[in-house]
Amino acid sequence: CGVFGIWGHPEASELTYIALHSLQHRGQEGAGMVVSNGSYLFGARGMGLLTDALTKDQLRSLKTFPYAIGHVRYATTGGSELSNVQPFLFKSHHGDLGLAHNGNLVNAMNIRRALEDEGAIFQTSSDSEVFAHLLRRSKAGGKKARIKSALRQLKGAFAFVIMHEDSLTVAVDDHGVRPLMLGKIDGAYCVASETCAFAAINAEYIRDIEPGELITMTDDGIDFDRYTETDKPNMCSMEYIYFARADSEFRGTSTYTIRKALGKALYKEMDVEADIVIGVPDSSLAAAKGFSDASGIPQEQGLLKNRYVGRTFISPGQEARERAVRMKLSPVKDIVDGKRVIVIDDSIVRGTTSKFIVKALRKAGAKEIHMGVSSPPIKNPCYYGIDVSTHAEIIASKKSPEEICDRIGADSLTYLSVERMHEVYRTYGSRGECDACFTGKYPIEIIDQVLPQEK
Ligand code: 5GP
Ligand code: SF4
Ligand code: MG
Repeated sequence: CGVFGIWGHPEASELTYIALHSLQHRGQEGAGMVVSNGSYLFGARGMGLLTDALTKDQLRSLKTFPYAIGHVRYATTGGSELSNVQPFLFKSHHGDLGLAHNGNLVNAMNIRRALEDEGAIFQTSSDSEVFAHLLRRSKAGGKKARIKSALRQLKGAFAFVIMHEDSLTVAVDDHGVRPLMLGKIDGAYCVASETCAFAAINAEYIRDIEPGELITMTDDGIDFDRYTETDKPNMCSMEYIYFARADSEFRGTSTYTIRKALGKALYKEMDVEADIVIGVPDSSLAAAKGFSDASGIPQEQGLLKNRYVGRTFISPGQEARERAVRMKLSPVKDIVDGKRVIVIDDSIVRGTTSKFIVKALRKAGAKEIHMGVSSPPIKNPCYYGIDVSTHAEIIASKKSPEEICDRIGADSLTYLSVERMHEVYRTYGSRGECDACFTGKYPIEIIDQVLPQEK
C-alpha cells in the first residue's frame, strides 16, 4: 500500500490526491482520502485506480480542507472489497479517527479474536482495524499515551498515518519494515511512503522516519518522539528490488541506483557471453543498465511494455496473470532476431513472467536466452505486507534453479546471491534488511500463523 498525510496546508486535499497518484504503483485495488476541517473528519473511498476510485464530485466535496490523509490499497490481508479500502474513518462521541496503514500485522487475528470474545464488532476483514479498537479501549491518559499503548500491542509491519480532528500522528514499526518519509511544503509537514510523492507535489524530502518513531503534527508544530526502543531495523528488501518507484530515495539514495548496483553485482556471479542485455520493463531496466555497464554488453530495449497495462502480478488467478503479461510485454523482433540475449528481471515469484518472456523471445528469433535475476530466489511467503504469494505458488519454494531454468525454457538461469545483495545494501548505508522471503529467517515472529492470502 501507499500512504500520505499533510498537516496545515491550504491545498491539503489537492496535494494528497497528486501524491497518491504518484504512489499508485503501491496499490491499485482501491484508494481514498480523509480530511479534517479542524472539528470533524470527512472521507471518500472507492475501488480501483485513484482516478476511478474518487469521483469529481467526491473530490470537490473534500476540497479546501487544510488537513488530509490518503491511501492506495494493495490487498494482502482482507478481501478486495470497498469496506477494506482505506483510510478508515471511525466516528465516536470522543472525536473522529482516520486511519491509513501500510504493511501487515502478524498478531491482528489473535487480537481480533480476543476483542470479539469481549464483544467488539469489526466492520472489515482488514488487519488494520484492530489498531482502532486498541486505541479506543486504551485507558492511558492523553491521546499520545493511548496511541503509544495501542502501538505497543501490535506486532508486524506498519507505517501508520493516524488523523484526529486536531492532529496527525505517524508511526513506524520497531523493525522499520515499510518505509515512511518526512517532507515539508510551504511550511507544512507531510509524510509519504515514498519520496516520489514529495517530488510530485514539489515538497522537500527531509528524512526517512526511523523504526519505532512516533511523530505528531498539530497547529502548534511538530513533536518527535518514540513509542518503543529498537536496535534491529529490517527494511523490506523487496522495496529496493521491485516495489518502490525507481526515482524514490531511501536515506538519500534512489532505488534506481540500488537496482543498478544489484545488476552490477549479478554480473559478478553470471559469466555468460551474449550480444545484448535486455531489462524487463519497467522495474528491471536499472538492473539491466548495471549489468550492461559491468559486462560491457550493450543494453537494448528488446522488450516493450504497454503503458496502459498496470502491474500484472496483482491480477487474481493464474490465467488472468498470464493474459496480463502477454498484453503487457512484447519483444522487438529485429533487435533480438539471431542474437544471444541476456534478460534481466528483478525477481521470479511464480515464473509466469519469465516463462512468457523466454517463449516470446524465441519466437522473435533469439538464438540463446540467458535469464539473470537481480535478487536471490524467492522461496517463502511474506507476512509483512507484500504479496509474494503462497508456498504452493512460489516456484523456487520446491524447485532448484536448474529445475526452474528447465521449466521456463531458458538456456541458463542465474540468481543474485543473498550475500551480494546485502553487500549492495551495505554500500548504501543499510543497517540490515529483511530477507525472509529469500532465507526464511523472519525478523518478526509470525504469531497468527495464517498467511494473509490463505484467510
Ligand atoms: P512472476 O511472474 O515470476 O510470478 O513474478 C515476477 C515478476 O513480477 C517480476 O517481473 C517482478 O518485477 C514482479 N513482481 C515481483 N514481486 C512482486 C510483487 O510483490 N508485486 C508485484 N506487483 N509484482 C511483483
Ligand atoms: Fe520484504 Fe521479503 Fe521481508 Fe516480506 S519477507 S518484508 S517481501 S524482504
Ligand atoms: Mg517486472
